[in-house]
Amino acid sequence: TREALFQAQKLDAIGKLTGGIAHDFNNLLNVITNGLSMLRHRSTEAETLRLVDSMEKAARRGASLTQQLLSFARQQPLKPEARDVGRLVMAFETVLRRAARSNVHFNVRVAPRLPAIMVDATQFETGLLNLVVNARDATPEGGTITISADVHELRDGELNNLPAGRYVVVSVQDTGTGMPPHVVAQAIEPFFTTKPPGKGTGLGLSQVYGLLQQSGGDLHIQSEVGKGTTVSMVFRALEESTSAVDAGHDELERVLVV
Ligand code: ADP
Repeated sequence: TREALFQAQKLDAIGKLTGGIAHDFNNLLNVITNGLSMLRHRSTEAETLRLVDSMEKAARRGASLTQQLLSFARQQPLKPEARDVGRLVMAFETVLRRAARSNVHFNVRVAPRLPAIMVDATQFETGLLNLVVNARDATPEGGTITISADVHELRDGELNNLPAGRYVVVSVQDTGTGMPPHVVAQAIEPFFTTKPPGKGTGLGLSQVYGLLQQSGGDLHIQSEVGKGTTVSMVFRALEESTSAVDAGHDELERVLVV
C-alpha cells in the first residue's frame, strides 16, 4: 500500500540520517574520552578526578546509545529464507528468558506443525527480543510474559490490509501496564518512546514493523491500560510445510507442549 511504502521510505531516510550522525558522534566521543583519560593521568586533585569519573560515565552511556543507533541504521541486506518459526523461537529461548526478569512467569507456546515463513533469522531474533524487552519493562514483579506461535486463517481485510490467507502469528503477551490509545497510535514511529533517557531509543517496534513489511506481513498491537499488551508479528505462511524446511520439529514439540 502507499502508506506502507511511505513508511518504508521514511525508515530508510531516517536510517541513513541516524547512521551518519551516530558515526560522527562516535568519533567526537572518542576525542572526548581520550582527552578525559589524559586529564586523569595528569591530575591528582580529588575534585577533578571525581569530575572526570562522571564525565567518563556519561561518555560511555553516549557510546552505547550511538552503538544502538548504528546497529539500527546499518541496513544489512536481509537474507529471507524459508524458516520454521518453532525452531527459531526454541533456539533463541534461553536468550529471551534471560532478557525477561527472573521474577516474572515466562511461558513459550508453539503450536505443532506450523507452516514455514520467509524471514531473515537474525532480524526475527532481534525483533522478538525487542518485544520481550518491552514486555519486561512494562511488567511488574509476579506478572506473566507469554510468547506464542500459532497459525491463523484470515479473511480479506480482517486484519489491516492483509489479503485473505494463512498466516503465522508470533506474539508476545504481557500482564504489564498496558498502553493508552495515543501511545498505541504512535508506538511504531521511529524514536517514539515513553522510557526515560538512556533506557529507550524508540526504535524497537519500528524495527519489528520494518521486518514485517519486508516479509509481507504486519504488526498488530492490542493493549489495555492496567491489564497488559499483546504485540503480534503476523507473517504470511508459505505453502510448503515445516517438515520440508527442517526435520526434527516433533522432537522439539515434545519438549515444548506441556
Ligand atoms: P523503546 O522500547 O525504546 O521505547 P519501542 O519502539 O520498542 O521503543 O516502543 C515504543 C513505546 O511503545 C515504548 O516506549 C512504550 O511506551 C510502548 N510499548 C511498547 N511495548 C509495550 C508493552 N509491551 N507494554 C507497554 N508499553 C509498550
